[in-house]
Amino acid sequence: RVINFGSLNIDYVYAAPHFVRGGETLAATARSIHAGGKGLNQSIALARAGLATLHAGAVGLDGLFLKTLLSDAGVDATHVAVDPEHPSGHTVIQVTPEGENAILYYAGTNATIDAEFVRGIIGAAGAEDAVLLQNETSAVADIVEAALEKGLRVIFNPAPFDDSVTALALERLFALCLNVTEACGILGLDPEVDGARPDAGERMLAALAAKFPKTVIILTLGSKGALWVRPGEAPGFVPAFPVKAVDTTGAGDTFAGYAVRALLSDDADEAAFAAGMRLAAMAAALSVTKPGAADSIPTLEAVERALAA
Ligand code: ADP
Repeated sequence: RVINFGSLNIDYVYAAPHFVRGGETLAATARSIHAGGKGLNQSIALARAGLATLHAGAVGLDGLFLKTLLSDAGVDATHVAVDPEHPSGHTVIQVTPEGENAILYYAGTNATIDAEFVRGIIGAAGAEDAVLLQNETSAVADIVEAALEKGLRVIFNPAPFDDSVTALALERLFALCLNVTEACGILGLDPEVDGARPDAGERMLAALAAKFPKTVIILTLGSKGALWVRPGEAPGFVPAFPVKAVDTTGAGDTFAGYAVRALLSDDADEAAFAAGMRLAAMAAALSVTKPGAADSIPTLEAVERALAA
């Protein structure tokens, strides 16, 4: 079982002729509401990848539908706390006719996760459970510490990156699943300069492996594909599958959920792990062919069908 400590968001998306200017009142031409948050997307990806998944997080009364959505996707949502005192995490997103967006984010109940909540869930976890987390809730250090202390495998997606990430016991993680921006943050590199070199991915992977020699590193490179290295093995690479990109939101979350499936399979020799990464790349590719994030995450069956085609 995977215990995912993660954010749960409500995205309020407004179509507007242009971004609102200071002092201006502007009429939106359409509005839609979507479930979001890296945590929610990754829990759905885990479940669609066929893993038993428990989501640990919190919503306000406005976010009860997020809990239902998780349950409907087969995720155990009984440890999603309902906090009547705060609103759920949410975004207000303006989208222009050109497709540009501007996003205002309020963490809400994602910022009310505390050490006591974390200890309660980790305390009841079994020795075979693994813990997944991102950097979009409070108590990230408490989650890592409690899970490591209990001897559980911890898989961390350090997104969105901020300086608090570098203070964590990253060298004790079972796996790090990250993109180039996050890798630059951890390595103290400049994404504009170091991230733009043609061999940037390989260099970052090698630097991360040298820094965290006991940790599996999975580095996603957007439409280029993904690199990985497991302790003591040669690095691997899977190119991205060529698809017509409609909406890349949630590609990283889909990849992460499916990557956990490969990480947790006991008998994954090098070839089996590479096959697992191929599965993750196909799942992410399928997700970018559809609009939205959570809705666009494919099932294992659909991914296997696409790979066989
Ligand atoms: P994030 O969304 O976290 O920044 P990436 O952009 O690196 O993550 O994407 C994660 C994975 O999704 C990539 O490794 C790749 O396999 C897949 N992917 C991303 N963009 C595309 C695309 N345009 N076409 C096909 N696959 C894609």
